[in-house]
Amino acid sequence: MAAREQGFAPLVFRLHGGAPQVIREVLLERGWEEYDEQKQEEGDWNLYWRTSAFRNSDYENILPWQRLNHHPKMIHITRKDCLTRHLRRMKSAHGAAAYDFSPAAFTLPNEYTKFLAAYVRNRTTGKPRYWICKPVDLSRGRGIFLFDTIKDLTYDSPVIIQRYISNPLLISGYKFDLRIYVCVKSFSPLIIYMHQEGLVRFATEKYNIVSLDNVYAHLTNTSINKFGLCYTTDKERVGRGCKWTMNKFRSFLHNQGVNELLLWRKISNIVMLTLLTAAPSVPSSPNCLELLGFDILIDTSFKPWLLEVNYSPALSLDCPADVTVKKGLINDIIDLMNYRMIDGFRQKGYLRRYRRSCTGRHYILTKIPPAFLLAKTSSAQRRWRKVCVKRKNITFPSIKTTISTRHKQTHHEQMSDVSHDDEELNVEVESDDCELTTLRRVRQSSRNVPSTVCKLPSLYVQNHKSPTVRYNRPSQDRSIPPSRVGDFILTFPFNEVTWKASRDDVGVKSVVHEIQKLTSRLASSFSGKERTYMDKRVAVRDGFEALLWGPKNPPLLSECCALKSQ
Ligand code: ADP
Repeated sequence: MAAREQGFAPLVFRLHGGAPQVIREVLLERGWEEYDEQKQEEGDWNLYWRTSAFRNSDYENILPWQRLNHHPKMIHITRKDCLTRHLRRMKSAHGAAAYDFSPAAFTLPNEYTKFLAAYVRNRTTGKPRYWICKPVDLSRGRGIFLFDTIKDLTYDSPVIIQRYISNPLLISGYKFDLRIYVCVKSFSPLIIYMHQEGLVRFATEKYNIVSLDNVYAHLTNTSINKFGLCYTTDKERVGRGCKWTMNKFRSFLHNQGVNELLLWRKISNIVMLTLLTAAPSVPSSPNCLELLGFDILIDTSFKPWLLEVNYSPALSLDCPADVTVKKGLINDIIDLMNYRMIDGFRQKGYLRRYRRSCTGRHYILTKIPPAFLLAKTSSAQRRWRKVCVKRKNITFPSIKTTISTRHKQTHHEQMSDVSHDDEELNVEVESDDCELTTLRRVRQSSRNVPSTVCKLPSLYVQNHKSPTVRYNRPSQDRSIPPSRVGDFILTFPFNEVTWKASRDDVGVKSVVHEIQKLTSRLASSFSGKERTYMDKRVAVRDGFEALLWGPKNPPLLSECCALKSQ
């Protein structure tokens, strides 16, 4: 039944031109309505989905019922040259042992001399070395080529030259890579979810290192392979087309007797360690989520390599595997965005329902986005402000002061400003089922504000009935994110230490240490033939129920660590 017929205001989505059709399909199936620029007011939407980046003003003017599908400044990890630079910096700060998952890379023309030195060094060892050249700001395999002698290197725009992983794991002779979907729910504190379903993308011609110019054998991009002669042929084991679901890949690994748990763990580590490079530089922004596509290549020794991180990963539905994976993915993202019924009432509704007297339980919504308080006053904000002021016990930061200093500050600094804010706000708003929603902005230390104020409404504070949401001991620690939302598995934080570190300005050093500790515990647990699971009662003793991303039925992380490593 449509939301309106049930007496609820429908949620509204706004798509920017070029946004994938599957988003529209999924949201309409869920009973949402599409935003109509001609008929609706500027802020009268709940979700704005863009394939490209938002403007700063979009972040500044965000309203409590709205969500955006991008965090700012994601270029730090989604542009090939920036990622290379950041990973190199992390490698020198935290050791090559932790950051050894990306092939050596050089940005040209700037690092031509460095590349030349590496090239010569490799050639003198006598081993054949191959390189791959990629334009820094293109995607979908455009402009990519392979070479082994420097005379074949030509470029007319900035490129990165990366060591070519020439021993990829093959399935029936075909190269493949994994497209892993990662959702960053918040950067401050850092909260990362990885989706259980993903895609395996195949090259459509058999791998042969001699034919370096055959893109259908060396590149796994669908945008390239769908034009290959063998795309539609039934390829040995791979089948028609060029994609598998992750589930099919799991079965394949299982049949091969591979220790997949350790492989999944290493991939999770890559995701966490990569996002840690960006976390300190991404301004804390309220109500934003980021869906990223991590491209992972596995070599013959089962070592996963990070090839790149994709901004706005492709969501087109080209084949049955796409339909299975992407529709579920979008549904789970919407669940992660955690809309409530009151969000359907948006500006006027919030006000109208606020005025009605009612009784019932209270729950606490601890965030009025700081940008909302600071930003230029749109009409919706002015109305919101009016309501709050009527409550008498509310004060806002002076707009004059804020605006006058705003221009001198970066977005990040604006967020910090809020943290110094001292006033206490307490607004009561009636929620959908005649409950009172208390909007309370509590005093915050400067360090804590972004983590409590600038984030999506907590999944704990409502009567969320989704059976797919698995809670992390909500009765005892309401602030720990749920370990599972649909097929999204909480990957970071994964224990008390990392949870604390992520809230305290991301203590990268301690996080890297925890990741290494956990991986070596898992490695030693699975070194023998027999898997030794811990007793469940022991497993949950630290109060943090993290799951291991990857396996079909993800076990508790702590269950996977053998007692002998204690
Ligand atoms: P794009 O953004 O254009 O897709 P990628 O970095 O993802 O660029 O590279 C495209 C494809 O090239 C990958 O999917 C993979 O098959 C192959 N590839 C890229 N880098 C490497 C590498 N270092 N070693 C082996 N194969 C690679």
